[in-house]
Amino acid sequence: MFGKLLHLSGVFSRTESKTTAIRRALSWITPVIIISLIIPLNMGYNGISSCIVTFVTLYLSRKNPLTFYFSCTALLCLSLYIPVGYSFGKISYAYVVSALQTNSGEFLEFLRGTSLNAWLLTSSAILAIYLFARNGQDFDKKYRTIYLIAFILINLNAWPKRMLTATAAYAQQANSALAGLEQNSNVPDNFQIISNHKKYKNVVVVIGESVARDYLSVYGYPHNTTPWLNTAPGYFYTHYISAAPNTFLSLSRTLTISDGVKTEEYNSIVALAKKAGFSTHWISNQGFLGEYDTPATVIASKAQHKVFFKKGDYNTNSTDDMALLGELQRVVKNNDNAHNAVFLHMIGSHPDTCSRLNDFPVNFNISHQQKLNCYLATLQKLDAFLEHAHQILEQRGESYALIYFSDHGMTVDESERPVRHGADARQNFNIPLFLFTSDTKKHITDDTPISARKFMSLFEWIAGFDSDKVPALSPGEAAERDITVFNGEHLVPYDELKENAIVQ
Ligand SMILES: [Zn+2]
Repeated sequence: MFGKLLHLSGVFSRTESKTTAIRRALSWITPVIIISLIIPLNMGYNGISSCIVTFVTLYLSRKNPLTFYFSCTALLCLSLYIPVGYSFGKISYAYVVSALQTNSGEFLEFLRGTSLNAWLLTSSAILAIYLFARNGQDFDKKYRTIYLIAFILINLNAWPKRMLTATAAYAQQANSALAGLEQNSNVPDNFQIISNHKKYKNVVVVIGESVARDYLSVYGYPHNTTPWLNTAPGYFYTHYISAAPNTFLSLSRTLTISDGVKTEEYNSIVALAKKAGFSTHWISNQGFLGEYDTPATVIASKAQHKVFFKKGDYNTNSTDDMALLGELQRVVKNNDNAHNAVFLHMIGSHPDTCSRLNDFPVNFNISHQQKLNCYLATLQKLDAFLEHAHQILEQRGESYALIYFSDHGMTVDESERPVRHGADARQNFNIPLFLFTSDTKKHITDDTPISARKFMSLFEWIAGFDSDKVPALSPGEAAERDITVFNGEHLVPYDELKENAIVQ
């Protein structure tokens, strides 16, 4: 009788211990599976092998306190990248350098633009790491060293190590680029003007922001995003290619002497115009945070007259681009004999697109993504902006040249983040270039392929002077067959980039 009871209780406790063991195993295996799926895929390391490496790494890490706590901390750091990686993929130099020079307003705007899915994935990953940290320990005194060695071996060239070392290298590169900028701003230019026959009293350069050429109806986009430009008198270049895919990398390669990789911020277009005898004006609706934290502010620092609408806190002073026109009006009305070179730096169509519009109406409803409709509206607003700038110069009655280009293109689709920076498609580099002058009365389309790295040469040709370092070139002379672009790491042939579908 007693024996039977003992036997029964034995069976009972064995089943109980089995369930407990299963439950205990699940308590760490489940979070490990979640981590192994979510984290590598949202860091841009797609592929089953990255998931398997993560799983094996975590399994091995459980046996040694050193590897265990190290893995938990490293994963926690990596998971903070999910909101970025979800939309943009693998970390790149361009993201690191933008992150280092982004002001708090842009950062908040970025966070607002991040999709709910990205946040759900981030919180699931953090929760899974927490559960793994709580339930995963299985420190084995016997084989600790063997597990440690196995952990090191598997991680010698695994994705987390590659990602962490790349990030550290990018951060170092970006820091030295920013330090270089500061140094550059103190160096005088060394241009020499070799001929000077100015053609126009006012030369106005409008630096646009995030405008993708393929979405402008003047270039054939089926929705009427540019009612005035469609027939406006001027030159419209259909194959103008930006130097790089974001503001920081592009403007330094467009407005200073550059071979595409290296840049000479002290030899900038503003210094060049000043040398040629122009009265130089830089009027900006972009941020001015630190004095020398972006190439644009360093380039601007050489101007005789500077106006920055966004000094200090970005959010308390969100000026509309149209205010730039008031400043243009003021400069050209100033009755002196000086030739003016005026640079207007717009905030343009920078995401978040809806917040760029202020009172401007959204006349498009082509997508269920309102941000895409807003993007098209920002293009229509640009059309109105340029029409007004043209009007100001026409009404003044003095000779003028008005040039517009965008700093880079965009990736546009109907995903949750429909308008975003990218670097892998032609659409990230396809930008508009317009030239209006007091002596152009016709609407002329020009399909010469030109790289934005030739902009300083075009500027000299338009303004009517020549320098020793930059040859003045007409669009025909600036034509290039094999255009390369800087993708954040190196120069790549434009022709080899993929073609993104255009949302219509
Ligand atoms: Zn930009």
